[in-house]
Amino acid sequence: MKYPHIFEPLDLGFVTVKNRILMGSMHTGLEEEKDGYHKMGVYLAERARGGVGLIVTGGIAPNIQGWTGPFSARLSSNKQVKNHKIVTKAVHDEGGLICMQILHSGRYGYHPFNVGPSKKKAPINPFKPFKLKSSGIKRTIKDFVNCAQLAKKSGYDGVEIMGSEGYLINQFIAKRTNDRIDQYGGDYENRMRLPVEIISKIREAVGENFIIIYRLSMLDLVEGGSSWEEIVTLGKAIENAGATIINTGIGWHESRIPTIATSVPRAAFTWVTKKMKEEVSIPLITSNRINMPSTAEKVLAEGDADMISMARPFLADAEWVKKAKEEKEDEINTCIACNQACLDHAFEQKVASCLVNPRACHETELNYNPTTTKKKVAVVGAGPAGLSAATIAAQRGHEVTLYDADKEIGGQFNMAKQIPGKEEFHETIRYFNKQIELHGVQVKLNTFVDEKLLNEGNFDEIIIATGIEPRVPKIDGINHPKALSYIDVLKNKKSVGQKVAVIGAGGIGFDVSEFLLHEGSSSTLNLDEWLDEWGIDKSLEARSGIEGVKPILPKAKRQITMFKRSKGKFGGNLGKTTGWIHRANLKKMGVKFIGEASYSKIDDAGLHYEVNGESHVLEVDNVVVCAGQTPLKTLYNAIKDSSHNVHVIGGADFAAELDAKRAIEQGAKLASIL
Ligand code: FAD
Ligand code: NAP
Ligand code: SF4
Repeated sequence: MKYPHIFEPLDLGFVTVKNRILMGSMHTGLEEEKDGYHKMGVYLAERARGGVGLIVTGGIAPNIQGWTGPFSARLSSNKQVKNHKIVTKAVHDEGGLICMQILHSGRYGYHPFNVGPSKKKAPINPFKPFKLKSSGIKRTIKDFVNCAQLAKKSGYDGVEIMGSEGYLINQFIAKRTNDRIDQYGGDYENRMRLPVEIISKIREAVGENFIIIYRLSMLDLVEGGSSWEEIVTLGKAIENAGATIINTGIGWHESRIPTIATSVPRAAFTWVTKKMKEEVSIPLITSNRINMPSTAEKVLAEGDADMISMARPFLADAEWVKKAKEEKEDEINTCIACNQACLDHAFEQKVASCLVNPRACHETELNYNPTTTKKKVAVVGAGPAGLSAATIAAQRGHEVTLYDADKEIGGQFNMAKQIPGKEEFHETIRYFNKQIELHGVQVKLNTFVDEKLLNEGNFDEIIIATGIEPRVPKIDGINHPKALSYIDVLKNKKSVGQKVAVIGAGGIGFDVSEFLLHEGSSSTLNLDEWLDEWGIDKSLEARSGIEGVKPILPKAKRQITMFKRSKGKFGGNLGKTTGWIHRANLKKMGVKFIGEASYSKIDDAGLHYEVNGESHVLEVDNVVVCAGQTPLKTLYNAIKDSSHNVHVIGGADFAAELDAKRAIEQGAKLASIL
């Protein structure tokens, strides 16, 4: 067996988990949807059927103050039990185990009734918390216990108590957020009283044969968090209080260090869990940026943890565990850690999904059933949109031919995957290559498709997925040798000088800047370098893992100035949960930002521009234009009025604000109804 450690059962005494894979807690928004518990049941049952050892639900509040947002999911009365039973039954029917996460948001609650240990407002939330009185603390503990008892009544196999990521319990533990002087504040013994009481009282109430996982913040990554000694003290107390398993929490939500983004190296924090293994004897779960079986196996084999928690990888592929067991890892649809359809959706109060798997959390609506009428389908363009449409149509039983003018499949993902920190994009291309093979898509590369080829093909359906053209702004001298497009740089490998102006501050402008700053190296592939870059102390001598640690930055390979015409902050349109990382990266590498600029000329001297009516010249070796994209519709326009059934998807349909999420989803939805 290729992954023996993953598939070793874990005996908890009263129940055995069949393998070492835990599906970590994720808020999907289904909890608050109409008929949401039914949808959640279908979604989680698919993951149980796919072989996950133990599932943890998204966070459920024990009371109204603990809501994450107005009217978010709560389990505090008997009336709510029947909804949860739908979920537990669905998972148990597939032979799975499921715990419910109890999450009290504390000062992170995005509503006016939120509470905390002190009146200190979170930097990421406009709502200032009410300070809990000691009677309020007693009530809160009771609510946790009541919630756990109701979870047991609902059929859950256990609960996970959320004690990390900066939520209520974490707020009590850390001096940063706790300035109380009663028995729940002051010295560490007092500050850790809340979680210890919660765990011991829950254990007393639910009896022995019920899983209690405690999510322990092992690395706060904020000023004023816990020291390692304090965390160890808490871990031991939590074990003594009756927890079955301890899960690892890394970083508070308000921390300015990335912990799960795609630029974070794989398994970047398992060394923290390993250190805790020397201190406690109950099983430990590790997490963060583990997305493929080889990584999970290595972490377990090296003794870093007893179980692996993965959350987003199960949005990307419900059958991850099954495929690992059958040693078909090349069939896994890998989570690329982009956050675009999961976390970003959660922050926008939308139901979560997955960029690479639009079925995620939409299992009752989007299905790829075998066709009863086999059709001959042509797909033009093997970028994300065309790949999604072609592979799903073929999976359903259609005869599909996929054309691309290029020598390889992937479209723009072949440029994206070269950006330092975006190496995961390789995996999506690998996945689609395997799907092509599995479902017998005929691929014709190096084939530029025109109207004639399509007319001669006798196709029942024609899907145009020809992508985009880069926008060429009307600037005097745009054809000067100094001016390059992002395609010249990333695809055509034109050489770029030392001093560079980048026109355009969208996703591609940021990516091209990263590429030029780091060309040829990527700290995402070197954990120690990455930890140095973000100032994380691997010895854990620094409080919170960061206090007093000076980041060690790589040397910038170029001097870059980024321009845009509009007002507002640079990168304001990037993903909610990742934009700040891109901004921070460029800033610390010395990139200069010039907004509200108008461009007058590119010539031998460099870039001529105006700001506030004043003219300037920036002497540069090159001006790289990343000024957005327009749909490449030539082929579509040529055949749309013909007698063929013609469809257009992805960038070819709509380029503004286009991203791969919409391209893949559009391809999948079309293929599901062909
Ligand atoms: P494309 O990927 O453009 O594919 C179109 C394909 O059609 C091409 O392969 C082309 O060769 C082929 N083609 C065109 N005309 C013909 C013809 N006549 N005959 C045959 N073949 C033809 N999006 C995100 O969501 N997140 C990101 O982080 C992200 N990062 C990016 C980073 C970079 C550097 C770049 C360049 C893009 C990034 N994108 C990102 C955008 C994303 O790649 C696009 O949204 C996506 O590729 C669009 O998919 P598509 O299939 O519509 O088009
Ligand atoms: P974009 O996000 O639309 O940005 C285009 C940039 O060009 C803007 O900064 C715009 O800024 C500028 N611009 C537009 N018209 C111009 C003109 N005529 N002259 C000069 N400047 C002009 O597009 P993109 O960066 O090309 O990205 C394409 C798609 O890929 C986007 O949908 C993006 O979401 C996706 N993508 C996403 C990521 C990610 O991290 N999620 C990464 C890369 C790409 P001003 O108008 O302010 O000048
Ligand atoms: Fe992973 Fe991106 Fe899918 Fe989220 S949207 S699960 S980060 S691939």
